[in-house]
Amino acid sequence: MMQKSKAGKSFSRRSFMKIGLAGIAGAVIMERGYDYFSESKAKGKIVIVGGGAAGITMAAYLSDMLRHDDITIIEPNEIHAYQPGYTLIAGDIFTPEEVLKPTAELIPGQVKWIKGAVAELNPDNNYVLTSSNEKISYDFLVLVPGCQMDFNLVQGITRETLGEGNVHCIYDYNGAKVCRDALRKLPDLKGGKLVFTDTYTKLKCGGAPKKIALMTEDYLSERKLRDNFDIQYYANQNNLMTPKIYGDRLSEIFDERKVEVLYSHRLASVDTSARKAVFDVLPKPSSQPVPADASYEQVTVDYDFLHFVPPMSAPDFVKNSPLADDSKPGGWVKVDKETMVHAQYKNIISFGDVAGLPTSKTGAAIRLQAPIAAANLVQLMEQKEPSGKYNGYSACPIVTEYGKVLMCEFGYDEKLMPTIPWIDPDVERGMWWTLKVHGLKPMYYHGMLKGLM
Ligand SMILES: Cc1cc2nc3c(=O)[nH]c(=O)nc-3n(C[C@H](O)[C@H](O)[C@H](O)COP(=O)(O)OP(=O)(O)OC[C@H]3O[C@@H](n4cnc5c(N)ncnc54)[C@H](O)[C@@H]3O)c2cc1C
Repeated sequence: MMQKSKAGKSFSRRSFMKIGLAGIAGAVIMERGYDYFSESKAKGKIVIVGGGAAGITMAAYLSDMLRHDDITIIEPNEIHAYQPGYTLIAGDIFTPEEVLKPTAELIPGQVKWIKGAVAELNPDNNYVLTSSNEKISYDFLVLVPGCQMDFNLVQGITRETLGEGNVHCIYDYNGAKVCRDALRKLPDLKGGKLVFTDTYTKLKCGGAPKKIALMTEDYLSERKLRDNFDIQYYANQNNLMTPKIYGDRLSEIFDERKVEVLYSHRLASVDTSARKAVFDVLPKPSSQPVPADASYEQVTVDYDFLHFVPPMSAPDFVKNSPLADDSKPGGWVKVDKETMVHAQYKNIISFGDVAGLPTSKTGAAIRLQAPIAAANLVQLMEQKEPSGKYNGYSACPIVTEYGKVLMCEFGYDEKLMPTIPWIDPDVERGMWWTLKVHGLKPMYYHGMLKGLM
């Protein structure tokens, strides 16, 4: 069909389409051209240790920012898991499979992948050694191998035996599945004592033990079985959360739901066959391990279901390296809290769970850290001072019941940093549940890990 222009000239639909396509192509070329000229020409071999949330996000940003990118990721796992989904697996909202993706699909195309684990860091000579004794040299190192979960520090249970004696931990993928099965079986118990606890070290997503406690309580309430169960939460600290506004609200919620909270209690051991948990009662909370000669009061608690969290630290190869902060427990990497550059080694940057940043260890924090860390690394490669400053933002969506979430958002020095500042931050809401259950996983896989947000 022909159309007449004002000048009387005829245009076919095909001509219109050609003009349209040429316009789109022009816009793409201009955009790519802009990208091309805005890319840094800095050169250098970058090695990223750990291809988890932080490592893959960093690789995506760096390969976008550098024209001559030479990036290698060292990561042993072929399957990547969206860890915030573990809570929802345990709560029977997500299927276990839906949090997984092959690592190969997530690592940006031009980035090299060494499928292996680093065993030793040698920052004085700019190389790492893998567990198969391969020496990998670098000009710049991104150290992001996450947390190590020290299950061995709780006697009587191991990561492999989770579920035994109805002892659970949702910080492990299989553990989350076993916990879900146990939750499904709780109604068969008819009644009993459910015990939840957290840990004394810095941990990833400190909200998770509260989430599973409150979801379990709600699961039983929904089935009109709540009155048959006694539920207790043993906290290692003397609050349930900081900043205080969130801790106060959580403690109100625990009160309203008749979950007794006991503070300054640390799980020492479990007897899975007798279903007894032993807690050290500390005079005041501490993030240090119990000294060998210490004799704290201990209480033995009978349970029918126990959920615990193992102590966490930096992986041993980090802890035993010159990159760890020796002045604090945990062996976390000693970085500047704003630039995330190592305190002594200026060609090393670290963030995510392994970094000794004074904020909560979450994926939400990494979403903000990664683009700043990437820009700072590019500046270092250009022999400039890193100018990007991370403000400590972290977020923890605490599921308080099926259908509601308390969205805790904060930065350094417990500063409240709500995304929607005009609504009360200490109110649990349905919209945050919708975000947690339907929004955050696609945002993670299709946005954050691709360096798009
Ligand atoms: C139960 C649970 C609930 C959570 N809920 C939330 C939430 O609601 N919101 C939120 O924002 N965050 C949440 N998180 C936290 C979030 O998942 C982590 O903060 C985030 O995954 C940390 O990213 P990372 O890259 O630092 O570590 P990881 O994602 O753990 O990745 C580290 C990578 O390093 C690799 N690695 C380890 N050792 C070596 C080695 N020697 N050599 C090479 N590679 C190595 C590992 O295989 C891994 O792939 C939750 C976590 C859990 C477990």
